[in-house]
Amino acid sequence: MQPLDSEKSLIKISHCSKDIFASFVPKYCPLCGQSLVYRKLEDAPVSIPSPFVNGHRERCSFLLKPTTGTFLSGYDGSSDLHVGITNTKGLVYNYNEAGVHKAEYGWEQCVSIPLVQPDMYGLLKQWDLYLEQFSVAEIWQPHRYDEHLHNCYTYGLTFINCVLSAQKQQQLSKSEFTEKFVIPRTRKASKYITIYKEICKNGFFTVGHPSEGGGTTSTVHLTS
Ligand SMILES: [Zn+2]
Repeated sequence: MQPLDSEKSLIKISHCSKDIFASFVPKYCPLCGQSLVYRKLEDAPVSIPSPFVNGHRERCSFLLKPTTGTFLSGYDGSSDLHVGITNTKGLVYNYNEAGVHKAEYGWEQCVSIPLVQPDMYGLLKQWDLYLEQFSVAEIWQPHRYDEHLHNCYTYGLTFINCVLSAQKQQQLSKSEFTEKFVIPRTRKASKYITIYKEICKNGFFTVGHPSEGGGTTSTVHLTS
């Protein structure tokens, strides 16, 4: 296995009635060996952006990563995920059985959901203070932790709802937030992981036409 840069885009081309994924634009079709000339627009290479970002460079975002290992190494599609919230300086606040942590590293390969528009200056100014004050509350003491009912996800979502209520906006239920913001991104990530792993193993990955493109959708377990 030859690891690729986790933030690198992959390439999709069409040839031999198949979608062919690779890490660079190939000169020859890996299936038939013909030289590739992109005459028609629909045959032109398409870039598949990486769904992963360095969480420490994301400000005011909700982050997801596997509890152990990374998405592209060790994650099997159903491993537990861990959740964090970044402040404006890339410090990742996260809650587990040992309480709230402020991580300066360890969140380099994440799925990120930005929570604040860049023009919301008032909120951006208050964000770090909100997050800090929220995190010292008694409910985030280690003994309050419960793997299923009071975990990292509860912490992240409760913070989002505190911000929403301070902005006089409607709160989000766990299922609303998960379906609207989390699932679309984890679904994309899991397709990318499938393609990425095949490319590392074989150099390319093909899917027959017409197709929704080769990823299996994985279940997400949000705990700790
Ligand atoms: Zn071909």
